[in-house]
Amino acid sequence: MTARASWQRCDDCHQELDELDPRPRCPACGGLLAIVHATSVTREQLAASTSPSGVWRYGDLVLPTAKGMAVSYPEGNTPLMRRQAIGDWCGVDALQLKHEGLNPTGSFKDRGMTVGITQAKRIGARAVACASTGNTAASLAAYAAHAGIPALCLVPEGQVTTAKLSQTLACGARTLVVDGDFDDCLRLMQQASSELGVYLLNSINPFRLEGQKTIVFEMLEQLNWHAPDWIVLPAGNLGNTAAFGKAIDEAMAHGLIARRPRIAAVQAEHASPFAAAFTREFDRLVPVHADTIATAIKIGAPASYSRGVRAIRSTNGVVITVTDAEILAAKGAIDRTGVGCEPASAASVAGVRKLCHAGTIGSAESVVAVLTGHILKDSSILQQIHGEHSIAPELANLPVRIPADVQAIAALLDSIEEGRIERS
Ligand SMILES: *Cc1c(COP(=O)(O)O)cnc(C)c1O
Ligand SMILES: [Zn+2]
Repeated sequence: MTARASWQRCDDCHQELDELDPRPRCPACGGLLAIVHATSVTREQLAASTSPSGVWRYGDLVLPTAKGMAVSYPEGNTPLMRRQAIGDWCGVDALQLKHEGLNPTGSFKDRGMTVGITQAKRIGARAVACASTGNTAASLAAYAAHAGIPALCLVPEGQVTTAKLSQTLACGARTLVVDGDFDDCLRLMQQASSELGVYLLNSINPFRLEGQKTIVFEMLEQLNWHAPDWIVLPAGNLGNTAAFGKAIDEAMAHGLIARRPRIAAVQAEHASPFAAAFTREFDRLVPVHADTIATAIKIGAPASYSRGVRAIRSTNGVVITVTDAEILAAKGAIDRTGVGCEPASAASVAGVRKLCHAGTIGSAESVVAVLTGHILKDSSILQQIHGEHSIAPELANLPVRIPADVQAIAALLDSIEEGRIERS
């Protein structure tokens, strides 16, 4: 018998399952599963990878046995960007933005989905399924189409942006709109998947988290393996927070980095059961009814709570909340530089500013804020900002109506230049 490269293990009772076992949770106790790898890697080995994918180039840390059969776009390879204006707005000198909205379907979900769909194909799944606030559905739909596997998505009625819903439909996924919120959808989908034998690809799926770890690996490699002081991200269902914690643990264990960055997870004020638990030293999760404009983190009962707790503890991290107004202001600052992101993503930058003002993040510390989704993922919020009766008048940039006359353009240009002179 050859030695195993990877297997699944229950977080709670430590029961081990084969790598190809399709069950979404521990059959013994219902706990969440994690993937364990026997492989080890060095920086040199990673640097020698020729994979075009920003996920599979870290394949030895993701799913070594599947490297040769990956369902890949490719994905990842997202830039680390520096924009002085955003750093200044936050009060941090060395702020960098890891823009995961530049993945193939417009969010970081693609990094997990390439691994999840590859796994679905390996186990011969008859169909794949998820409950989603929009981005998971869009990603699942695209990767399932790529793999030729039928896809089923459950989304909460009226709480998924038009762009995300139409993206999912366009890729051919059967989409069920549920009279309820995301937490209802997830509950329903877990029940359906165990009864109907479809492969569940929500973020409780441990293979998705393996792919999402590469946000951290790729960022660290872009920084020449000099870990930043802080990594800041928006937090909803806590799959990404958990993946970041696991990635940092593994980067330390393999000697890729010499010290741990601290994780700061940022929740929307009225969707913040994780932040509330943090203030009580994580005594327990108290689910809430979630409400925020940032639909991608509008989650009241995060499924990966226990993993999220571990990630915050092992990195000496923090969990904070920001208001919808703070999210909008951050989005305004990000959008105006041309970088752009969807509202949930702006929570990370709003969080950096808040932590800096509170003195938790020092202005000289190095910070990477993760932008999780693309600006066009939520075009209706853009219309609400940059339209009549703006929800954020201080950010609004309204279209100017002119007659079809070049003089009107000339007059407008003059007024812009005069405005510049007045401002300087
Ligand atoms: C999924 C998602 C999140 C939240 O990630 P979790 O893993 O659920 O915490 C944040 N922002 C965007 C754009 C997302 O799509
Ligand atoms: Zn168990």
